Amino acid sequence: MSFPNTINVSQPDGAFHFLPCSTCSSKTRHTVLTQVASSFTDDDGEHCVSVWTRHQIVQCGGCGIISFRKGESCSEDVDHDRAGNPFHPEVEMIYPERSVARTMLRESDELPEDVMQIYEEAHKALGAGLNILAALGIRAVVEAVCAEKELSGKLIQQIDALRDHGHVTRDGADILHRVRRMGNSAAHERTAHTEAQLIAGFEVLEHMLKGLYVIPGHAAALPAHSTAAIVGPASSAASSGT
Ligand SMILES: [Zn+2]
Repeated sequence: MSFPNTINVSQPDGAFHFLPCSTCSSKTRHTVLTQVASSFTDDDGEHCVSVWTRHQIVQCGGCGIISFRKGESCSEDVDHDRAGNPFHPEVEMIYPERSVARTMLRESDELPEDVMQIYEEAHKALGAGLNILAALGIRAVVEAVCAEKELSGKLIQQIDALRDHGHVTRDGADILHRVRRMGNSAAHERTAHTEAQLIAGFEVLEHMLKGLYVIPGHAAALPAHSTAAIVGPASSAASSGT
């Protein structure tokens, strides 16, 4: 790609795309706020190839978050619609990269710093479709939790220790062992797991993180004993519906 032959800046009226939004956890209608369209043509007298690029600032119609979309098509790439009409398909890139299927743990800022950093990177890998790195990331988060809890030994023993200390249930430990094996195969066999498998791994991981680092804080914020018997009528009325 060389210097563009043409550049056109515009604010397309009514243009939109359906794009993933990690805040809305679904594909939502994104309005194009501003567009920079450029084209490049390489013509050597025998062959002529054109590339068209659209850089767009877009806004989610659900939550209002603003992000970036780049669409690029080439005269050499031709597809056909259902009616058989030819068109140049557009390759799409969005930034920040995200997955529709998974939002980050809402209370991730309550995690220990080391755990949070690895968890965030693993989540970014999932959103970017880097499935091998995402699987390695899930395993790395489990290892970081075990290090933070000062559990020694190999990961297999650390997970058993998490179970024995009551940090995860027996079923949770079984699933963490599956996550461990996912990380093993990603590391040694470079196996890319499907997004569905990775999301199941994140479900378990986040359940454990909430149980270890988030819920204890919420529990500490609640009164140890009910005060209904010693407070006034307003509070009693407020609690009567619970
Ligand atoms: Zn949104």
